[in-house]
Amino acid sequence: MRRISIFGSTGSIGESTVDLIARAPEEYDVLALTGGRNIARLAEQAVALNAKLVVTCFPEYRQELAELLSGTGIEVAAGPKAIAEAAERPADWVMSAIVGSAGLVPGLKALEQGAVLALANKESLVCAGELLMRTAHAHGSDVLPVDSEHSAVWQALVGEEISEVERVIITASGGAFRDWPLEDLPKATPEQASTHPNWDMGQRITVDSASMFNKSLELIETREFFGFLPEQIEVLVHPQSLVHAMVGFKDGALMAHVGPPDMRHAIGYALHYPERRDLPVDRLDLAKVGTLEFRAPCDARWPALRLAREVMEIRGLSGAVFNAAKEQALDAFLAREIRFTDMAAVVEEVLHAMDRENALKCDRMRLEDVIETDHVARIRAAEAASRINMDA
Ligand code: NDP
Repeated sequence: MRRISIFGSTGSIGESTVDLIARAPEEYDVLALTGGRNIARLAEQAVALNAKLVVTCFPEYRQELAELLSGTGIEVAAGPKAIAEAAERPADWVMSAIVGSAGLVPGLKALEQGAVLALANKESLVCAGELLMRTAHAHGSDVLPVDSEHSAVWQALVGEEISEVERVIITASGGAFRDWPLEDLPKATPEQASTHPNWDMGQRITVDSASMFNKSLELIETREFFGFLPEQIEVLVHPQSLVHAMVGFKDGALMAHVGPPDMRHAIGYALHYPERRDLPVDRLDLAKVGTLEFRAPCDARWPALRLAREVMEIRGLSGAVFNAAKEQALDAFLAREIRFTDMAAVVEEVLHAMDRENALKCDRMRLEDVIETDHVARIRAAEAASRINMDA
């Protein structure tokens, strides 16, 4: 039996992972499930999968979780420390599907005990790609991509030499405001930004799709995962979200990965790798689809992409600043304190200020530096957001 843990099991990626595991429970020994506020669902999952341990990241929900699971023999814990400890339990395969930089420490702990880390939590790679990959290397563990674009690149690279890759193209749906007039963007509300044309995802990543902060994180993620140079990585807007990524080789061939927008494909590929198993995803009928469109992204609509390119060049701690400032700006937008278009302005201000102060460079990344940088960038971004709010 494979020993597995799912971090962020109550979220959109977590639920898809639980769905796949629940289809073959005899194959898996579920060590730990972790969640946040959705306590009823966390308890339900723990019973259904016969988990050994469940953890909520919020201590105030511990009691409720313990009551729901009393008499089951399932161990209950709470708080970020308990989540990190859950990641220290030796597992064979760990799904990292917590949202935000809170996913970094459990991911590192899982790698330190030698697990295969299926990484949906792109923020870990953006904040600390060098540290994460170095940790995996030092402990002989693997990090497998779960983001659909990176899974697509990975699949297109099977049997190929990285040195023969000329370029990589990741696609973006363009999110909720792809076709809005530019002058309407400042008026966009959190509700409007939280609707995705193709994918059914958590709220934060859906808003990040509309602003292209999600694609910006993925640009950085592509660089950190595969080591491609910034000029080798392109973004194309593809409204149908069926082609997830393309890899171009030096003989001119372009290998595209095509599939329906269902994360269970990428999760299933990482779960069963190197095998391919039957997965419960729709099969594409391309005759019905008819047309696949592609267009270049518009810089004025999506300034986040330009900022991500700066991060890809600087590397070091710039990814931690970019992500933390983005998370803070997103909180301010969701709380209606700043406008949709102010999010990029907040991130740009913090990134450039910390670059001028020479706070982004680092030779050998340490977890303490990433945590401290994340903390400082959040404070700076909150200040920038409240200044913008007062100016408005
Ligand atoms: P969700 O918001 O749906 O789920 C996040 C999960 O993390 C939930 O289990 C949530 O608990 C838990 N959680 C929230 N805050 C914390 C915290 N501070 N500490 C620990 N756990 C916490 O997110 P998604 O599933 O959409 O995304 C998860 C990750 O996967 C993100 O990094 C995202 O960028 C990435 N990703 C998502 C894709 C998608 O299709 N959704 C596609 C590719 C990548 P609870 O809900 O119980 O409060």
